[in-house]
Amino acid sequence: MAYDESNIFAKILRGEIPNDTVLENQHVLAFNDITPKAPVHVLVIPKGQYTDIHDFGQRASSDEKAALFDAVAEIAEMKNLEEEGFRTIANTKSNGGQEVSHFHLHILGGAPMGPMVSSS
Ligand code: AMP
Repeated sequence: MAYDESNIFAKILRGEIPNDTVLENQHVLAFNDITPKAPVHVLVIPKGQYTDIHDFGQRASSDEKAALFDAVAEIAEMKNLEEEGFRTIANTKSNGGQEVSHFHLHILGGAPMGPMVSSS
């Protein structure tokens, strides 16, 4: 699937719409989700144009991949999530329920997250 430059996270990366930044470096931007589903709900995105985790896994450089995992660890510490834990989600394409077609990891924490997948 071709990358759609009109997606909302591409607009955030271009500075066209604001975001509530949690962490930023050469490869990664992390910001608070606009509709939080947990006391802590941070989105971590690569700055490169990747549609989803599969695309990122296939095409991203080792430095970009390392930066993403380092960011998750750094955010867990910033938000005091390491001790009680947290959930990381990468919704992917239609069956995964992905709404924004720029790869992102959700970091959710601050309370028990409940069952991994709804049974209904
Ligand atoms: P997904 O369903 O995995 O694609 O998740 C997309 C997420 O992006 C949702 O949790 C939205 O609440 C979030 N979102 C959409 N627009 C914005 C925005 N402008 N700033 C922050 N988060 C957003």
